[in-house]
This record gives sequence, C-alpha cells and structure tokens, in this order.
Amino acid sequence: MLYKPFQNINLSCLGMGAMRLPKTGEGEKIDEQRAREIIEYAYSNGLNYFDTAYRYHAGESETFMGKALKDKKRDSFYLATKFPGHMMEKTDDGKLKFTGLLASHPPVAAVSDIFDRQLEKCGVDYFDFYLLHNVCETAWDFYTDEEIGCIRYLLEQKRKGRIHHLGFSAHARAETIEKFLDKYDCFEFVQIQLNYLDWTLQNASKKYEVIKKHGLPVVVMEPCRGAKLASINENLNALLKEKRPDASIASWAFRFLQSLPGVQVVLSGMTTLEQLKDNIKTFSTNDPTSEAEKELLFTIAGKLADTVPCTACRYCCEDCPQSLDIPKLISLYNEYTYGKTANLAFTTLPFTIGAMKPEELPSACIACGSCAKVCPQSIDIPAVLEKFAEVLKSKTA
Ligand code: SF4
Ligand code: SF4
Repeated sequence: MLYKPFQNINLSCLGMGAMRLPKTGEGEKIDEQRAREIIEYAYSNGLNYFDTAYRYHAGESETFMGKALKDKKRDSFYLATKFPGHMMEKTDDGKLKFTGLLASHPPVAAVSDIFDRQLEKCGVDYFDFYLLHNVCETAWDFYTDEEIGCIRYLLEQKRKGRIHHLGFSAHARAETIEKFLDKYDCFEFVQIQLNYLDWTLQNASKKYEVIKKHGLPVVVMEPCRGAKLASINENLNALLKEKRPDASIASWAFRFLQSLPGVQVVLSGMTTLEQLKDNIKTFSTNDPTSEAEKELLFTIAGKLADTVPCTACRYCCEDCPQSLDIPKLISLYNEYTYGKTANLAFTTLPFTIGAMKPEELPSACIACGSCAKVCPQSIDIPAVLEKFAEVLKSKTA
C-alpha cells in the first residue's frame, strides 16, 4: 500500500468509503457479515483511512463502522465522519431540524447533540478527521450562521482533542469553495468529487487548483463516479484494454488520480472484496498515467459527456412521491445512450424494461421536482425521465 504524509501522520493513499457497503436487499440495511469481511481485508492490507458520515446507509454506516473497528488499536486507524448541515435548517424556536432524506429524524437543540451522538455511534472518544458534509450553495447559510455556531463548536471540540483534523466536503462550484476557504482559515483538508470525467464536466480541475492554492490536500470522493468508470462501455473499455490488457478499467481512474500531487487520499466506496483487491493492487505501486494516457482518458470523457452524470448516491430517492428508483432509471437511460454510440441501443434494454411494472417506469414521474433539489450533481432529473419516457414510448409505439 502506498502512503503519503499528512502533517505528522501517514495516510494510506487508498481510503475505505463506507457509503456503499454491501446491503441485505432491505433498503439501506448493511449486510454486516460481508461488510465486515471487506473492512477486515482493507485493514489487514494496509488501508488506514475509513470514511463514514451521519447520513450514509440511512444513519447505519457510523454504527456499523464503530462495531467493525472496535477491536482495532485506536491509533492504528484514522476515522473520518461528517456533520450533516447540508440537510438541516434552523426552526423559528431556535432548534435544528433535518430536511430531505433525514426529515424523519427528530429535531435537535444544538450541533453538540449530533456530534456527541456520532462519537457514541462510532464507539470512539475522538474523530481523527471530521468534516462539514457538503458545503455548497444551499448549505452556505447553515454553515456560516453565527447563531447556530457549527464551525465555532467544532473548533472547540478540536481544542478539546475530540477532533484531530477539521475539513469539509463539497459538491459546490469552485467559486463557492474558494469563498469558503477565504472566509475560514481553520480547515486542514477538503474532500471533492474528482475523476477524469469530472475534470472538465464538473470543473473539478478548477476546484483542485483552488484547494491547492490554499495549501490544502485534497481527499477524493467518487474516483470512479459510482463505479461508472470501472466499466464504461464495450467500445471505450476496448480502447483501454488495448493499451493495458491486464489492467482493470477502474485502475485507469485511480492512476489518473495518482498523477495529481495535491491528492492525499482516494476514497473508494467498495462494495465487494473483488473491487477492494483490485484497488489495493493499483495502490501497491505508484504508476501515474502518462500525458499520452491522460489524453486518452480525456478523449473517453468527451465521449461520455452526453450521458447523465449520476453517481447513484440515492439522495434523491427518499423524496420521490412515486418511490421511483431514480438512479436505476438514469443508469438504464445511460445504457441506452452508450448503446446508441455503439449501435447497440435496444438490444438488451427491453429485457430490463419489460420486467418493470408501469409504476416503476420513467413515465410514472409526476415532475414534482423534489429530487432535483437534493441532487449533488445538479441533474435535472424530471427532464431526464421525461426524455427517457419519450424514448421508450417511441420504441414501443
Ligand atoms: S420529479 Fe419525478 S422522479 Fe423526481 S421526485 Fe418527483 S416524481 Fe419522483
Ligand atoms: S440523480 Fe443525483 S441524487 Fe439521484 S442518485 Fe443520481 S446523483 Fe444521486
């Protein structure tokens, strides 16, 4: 495993993300046995950075990580979690209530209630890394509200040793990240979505430069864009296989990140042991992509740019009054788009679509727009579903 120094410690270059742990099939419920095998394998093969968040797996990820790391020596791993301010607002009586996906959680009196609960759930008395979750244009007011005092409270916890390093994650525009870093000089790292597709698509190159300019390391999330860059499509996979027949498609995405010196840890939300083993192999040597290889990846990204950039985070699902599996529908739509590029559209899609009930199809969307409000990728979901519904209608007419 490759390591990189962060202040006076060494962090593994590959970190374990706990947002996509294996599930039992009942909602977000974690398949603890399979998930434990993954955490054990990661730990015993040198990964030392474990990243969870209040909201992952509907609140179960922190509890699970606490159990999975319980028997490990506390200073042998680094645990990161996040404060869910992007899903909170202040009520008229001064309480803090949850919104969106977390709306069913009871309101709390103060930031401390959540922080104390997180320590308890994770079974630790300090967090190595603690982040404001998703500083973005809509969460700006919450995080900067002096009365709520979120940042003030977290800095107090840092002074008390309950937080070792404070940072934030962001799906914001580069300008917003810059404004936040100009306003506060207390942060030690920033977590952003970074991969060769988003380098231009989401202007991640500018975000990376802004963070570097402020002298901070970058923690990467979505290095494979929710596994999309782990298997692209038949044609584009073939371009990469031609260059490196024995390398996995995912390894290209990770090697691209190895070429960026400002990257500290690459978090991967690994669901299977196979993914973990392949990623450990990639991070056993420093083998950054060459300039020519980067050009190839940017060419591939250009071909992918007209697909919908869903990362399957499922933030949108909880709010859908039609209970649509939005990421699945978008994935099918993308499959159609890929297929179109490869002249394969509608060779396999009808089998999947044909097995779905009418209320599960894109035509069941009532365009209420709740989903789009919470999508960190700013996807106009109702428009995509409308387009997909039209495609399906024209193919079956
Ligand atoms: S716009 Fe459609 S997909 Fe989005 S929440 Fe409303 S019904 Fe669901
Ligand atoms: S549409 Fe947006 S919110 Fe929904 S799963 Fe995809 S990226 Fe996440």
